Amino acid sequence: MKVLVINAGSSSIKYQFFTMATERVIAKGLVERIGEPQGRVVQEVDGQKREHRLPIANHSAAFQVIVRELMEGESPVIKSKDEIEAVGHRVVHGGEAFKASVRITEAVLKAIRARVPLAPLHNPPNLSGIEAAQALLPDVPHVAVFDTAFHQEMPPTAFMYALPYELYEQDRIRRYGFHGTSHAYVSRRAAAMLGRLVEHFRCITCHLGNGCSMAAVRDGHSVDTSMGLTPLEGLVMGTRSGDLDPAITFHLASVKGLDLGEINSILNRESGLLGLSGLSNDMRSVTEAAAGGHARAKLALDVFAYRIKKYIGSYLAVLGGAEAIVFTGGIGENNGAMRAAATTGLEELGVKIDAEKNAKARGEADVSAADSRVKILVVPTNEELVIARDTAEIAGK
Ligand code: AMP
Repeated sequence: MKVLVINAGSSSIKYQFFTMATERVIAKGLVERIGEPQGRVVQEVDGQKREHRLPIANHSAAFQVIVRELMEGESPVIKSKDEIEAVGHRVVHGGEAFKASVRITEAVLKAIRARVPLAPLHNPPNLSGIEAAQALLPDVPHVAVFDTAFHQEMPPTAFMYALPYELYEQDRIRRYGFHGTSHAYVSRRAAAMLGRLVEHFRCITCHLGNGCSMAAVRDGHSVDTSMGLTPLEGLVMGTRSGDLDPAITFHLASVKGLDLGEINSILNRESGLLGLSGLSNDMRSVTEAAAGGHARAKLALDVFAYRIKKYIGSYLAVLGGAEAIVFTGGIGENNGAMRAAATTGLEELGVKIDAEKNAKARGEADVSAADSRVKILVVPTNEELVIARDTAEIAGK
């Protein structure tokens, strides 16, 4: 079966086209600057990238561009759109309605639409992507894979905020968690790498990219995670603050006279590595500046690592110990210094990194010292593969 995986954002669509027999990516690409006078399309086939520019009015036009690229690009990978046998869509917020991936029906679309207030930036473009794809490929199964689904097994002790209960009952205000496909994938890979069954395995997964979250995973289920109602809670991120005293928002309003939009922008777009360093949301730039003696860049790295370490400690408590700590995402996979900073000092808790293995790690790797009770692993995430697998499985039923 050939499966197209779609990740639709507000002004871009990322895609990967899989052949499921070998789970090989036949083509992958990005359509961006949707709605701007000049859009951009990049497609990669067999390591060869090809880019061109053209106006792309909306998601519907973008999806047509994707199918055309697959059929008529410099290296066409299909002869007709009928060769796309199923489409998998990343959907950010499934609320409490979805504990697993589902085939998209009218009722599913309605349920995703009903969760727009919980994810106003993400669910609307996800819906546009689905509608565009369904319009062009009406006869194939479309499957929704939710960022929130893996965390739906969390117990109420982990997902409830200590707010008036009516806010949960009436408005579904609770912790949901995100990056679920990534946490699910790397926790399973980690168990496999250690020759363990995921059903009897405790691990702490750290997805550190531009967005960052951690999860405590017991026996294949997420039992706690650092993101909450929205992807703002938890770790320090590229531009997001993560955890803070909620009274800071009242303070910003009453003392500085900021309105809700301005406060939202500070917390989501001007904080994190960018806010602390004053330089960049990109870990590479901040690391370079810190190495050159930039004090605020160094502070940003220290706060970033300290927050991860605090969550490792709390998740060791939640799980009653763990077999592994797993690092993934652009930073978790590539930045050995951050892995070391986040785990150094935890030796009494059975966590001991091997400096040499950590420095050399490429791809999947065990970077823990031989006598580390808790293994420290690096596992490149592959959310698209999870989406493709779920889609093929559901489409095949
Ligand atoms: P992601 O959102 O998973 O693509 O991750 C983006 C983050 O990963 C950015 O902060 C990048 O600076 C960081 N990153 C990506 N590649 C590397 C690398 N080779 N070394 C260090 N950081 C990296």
